[in-house]
Amino acid sequence: MDALYPESVVGVENPARQLVTDLNRRELSLVSWLVTVVPELRASSVLAARGRSRSEAYRYVHGAGIAERMPALFELLFDDGRITVDHLDTVWLRINRHLVGLKTRVAESVRPLIDAAVSEALSDWIREGGPATLEAFSQVTDETLAAVAGNIVSATEQREQDTQRLYRRENRLILDCGSAVTADAVWSTVGDRALDLLREARRAEHDGTEEALCSDENAAFSGLPSMAQCRARVLLDLLGDTPATMKITVNLYRPTLDGRHGVGGAFIPGVGYVSDLTASALEGVATLVRELPSRKEINHRQARGYTFTTLQKATVQGRDGHCRFPHCAVPAGRCEHDHIISSPHTTPESDGPTSVSNCMLLCRTHHALKTAGLWSASTPDDGVTVDWTGPDGYTDSTEADGPLAPLRSS
Ligand SMILES: [Zn+2]
Repeated sequence: MDALYPESVVGVENPARQLVTDLNRRELSLVSWLVTVVPELRASSVLAARGRSRSEAYRYVHGAGIAERMPALFELLFDDGRITVDHLDTVWLRINRHLVGLKTRVAESVRPLIDAAVSEALSDWIREGGPATLEAFSQVTDETLAAVAGNIVSATEQREQDTQRLYRRENRLILDCGSAVTADAVWSTVGDRALDLLREARRAEHDGTEEALCSDENAAFSGLPSMAQCRARVLLDLLGDTPATMKITVNLYRPTLDGRHGVGGAFIPGVGYVSDLTASALEGVATLVRELPSRKEINHRQARGYTFTTLQKATVQGRDGHCRFPHCAVPAGRCEHDHIISSPHTTPESDGPTSVSNCMLLCRTHHALKTAGLWSASTPDDGVTVDWTGPDGYTDSTEADGPLAPLRSS
């Protein structure tokens, strides 16, 4: 087993602790490197280098912000060995929570004062042996902010109470009610109505009817719905959850063999593979079903103008599946169609054709970075591989892995 350990921990009394210290310092080294990159390229650089997710990339970007703004604290934290990029992210978020509500000019003038106070408080905390937990970092930062910028903190609290926000994280919707009071009120109202639904369902089951609410739409659901399911039903009912009132676009890619389906599931960009049964159900309600030509047939076919044709777009979406920037997972439906070599319609000295072989999907952020010339891309094989060059001579390449990519069809 020793062979799996790096030299540095062989024979060390507490190898796990040593490994964690090494890991933490490596994380902070990546933060140090990021400080050398211009701020507008930090998120894309760390995403390309480290992968994982955008939220992970932003943790590093925030860490670099703190390292830049509080260099003495950063040095101390690096030496400590217990501190991770998440600690820096926590401090960034706690401070930023207040700065976002201020006018830019005001935020810029108060930030150095806040930074100096937080840096000093956290340095004292670490020197005096305080626990290096995320919770502690959060509290020390909040305590300092309340002491040095009380007015700003109370303005933030007021603003948050009056602001409700709704986010989406994959198939979850998160409603931020702004304050605990509003959250309580919404929760109890939804709860009351959900309880009515549950009682109705119980009665229906007792009567032996098959029409119990919350369970009538899906034959795989048996028995009584849970309270959580009833709460969701209450909210969806408010929106009029019927095919007539809710419109969704789902692009489903399904292989055919001699014109027949059912040869191995189907792929939905942003979702992944689904079963044949689900594919047939979705196809059954689709308003448009199109047979795509093989990539060979369509690859070099050129559209006259700057805009890609519907068929070209569908083919590229199937080939790429998501943004082609290294490790970016923004699904095809939310991406833009980029000419890998610029089109003469936008760049007169360039001669990129409007064809599948010169097209790739990019999310809005990465499209903007490429258009601005901060990242450049080229392809040796008609868009299947895309080679990227970024800041500091960084290079990387991505291979198409959508349902129509050679990778999948081979
Ligand atoms: Zn992207």
